Parts: sequence; structure tokens; C-alpha cells
Amino acid sequence: MPYLILSDVHANQEALEAVLKDASGLYDRVLCLGDLVGYGADPNYVAEWMRQNVAAVIRGNHDKVCVGLDPLEVYNPAARASAEWTRAALSPENFAYLEGLPRGPLRFDNFDLVHGSPADEDEYLIHAGDVESLRDWLDAPLTFFGHTHVQGGFLLTRGGIRRIFPGMEPILQLEPDHYYLINPGSVGQPRDMNPRAAYAIYTPEVRTVEFRRARYNVARAADKILEAGLPPSLAARLHEGT
Ligand code: ZN
Repeated sequence: MPYLILSDVHANQEALEAVLKDASGLYDRVLCLGDLVGYGADPNYVAEWMRQNVAAVIRGNHDKVCVGLDPLEVYNPAARASAEWTRAALSPENFAYLEGLPRGPLRFDNFDLVHGSPADEDEYLIHAGDVESLRDWLDAPLTFFGHTHVQGGFLLTRGGIRRIFPGMEPILQLEPDHYYLINPGSVGQPRDMNPRAAYAIYTPEVRTVEFRRARYNVARAADKILEAGLPPSLAARLHEGT
């Protein structure tokens, strides 16, 4: 039973639709690692789609700040403006849905879902050094994480930690006795210099994770951000993949 693993959709309808089209026929169930909203111009569309389609989902930091569970002050001006705009734009039903999202880690089957890291939902796992101290926190051999918007992740062996680069290993074979932290990348705001929407397909039966990218109508998503009166930098970064 393959899973479609989504993260950091960030209210980007065009990117989500392109991923679903690209992944069509490849998965049975959908899992989401948080940051459904914030930055993008379609928070209601994305929240509603998640409500109807995900088997499991956890909250991200932007979901929290958009519904007032986190203070606005810790965010940069563009993120703050988008959080305030999103808060006003959300329907009462979608607001309540986001408010009620569970915090990670969430155990699903025999693997874990987290937004930032297993130790802290708001922590960024960027370098191998960020991961070393997590050995004691890892409950499952496989953990999916998001938050950095960078597709890939880390392999932990007894000997050390290795970064996983999707460009070199588009289909990752999971070996027994190793621990994996896997990031599907961001659907709605990739930051790895590749503007295409990122996601992953996990197939437990054959123990593979496939890293995939889908082209989408970036110009349309960016135009909607401008039309909504959101900061232009949020539109520009979609074109750049930053
Ligand atoms: Zn995010």
C-alpha cells in the first residue's frame, strides 16, 4: 500500500493539483507533515482538500501561527503579513480544522511523522550535525519530516550520518538496521533552487522511497499572491525555488 507523502503545501493550490496529477495511480493513502497554509493565496482550498483526503496529518508552525496558537512576533515581516491575511481569509470550519491538528511526532503504522524534528516540532534539520543528537529521540527506523522545504534527508548508521541527495538517489532503498529521516520536500514553496513541487511516494512492501518533482503553473500561483495583496517577495520566491 504506497503512501503519498506531502509537506509544506503552504496554500498553493496549483502545486497541490499538479502533484496529485503527477502521482495519480501511484498511491493509496495520503499523509501530510504540516504547514498546510501560510505564504500562499489558497488556504481554504488546501485545508478543505486535506480535511477530505488525508489518512494522517500533523500541524506545522505556520498552521499554528495562522490560527493564533503561536505569537506573530517571532516571524519575519512577510510571514507575519501572510499569517494575518490567512487568519482573516480562513472559513470558520477550516480555522477549526487547523486549530485541532495534532502535534508530531505521530506514529502511523510503524513509522513516525514530524514537522520539524522528533525532539521539537519547530526545529530545522538542515545539517548532519543537527541530527546527531536525535539518536535517542528516534522511536522508529523511519521518520518523515518537513519544515526545511528541502527534499532529501539523512541516513543514520552505527558509523555515522550521511545526507540523502534525491538527485543521486531518486529511488531510495531502505536497508534494515539503519535509521532514516526522510523529507519529501515542499509541495508549495520549494527552497532547494528547484521551483517544481516536491513530494515522495513511500512503498512499505518493497521498502522504497521515491523522491519526485512536478512542474506546475508557478506564474498563476505567484499572480494570486500578488492579487491578494500579499508581499511580492512571496510570489518571487516561487519562481526561484528559494
Ligand atoms: Zn513550511
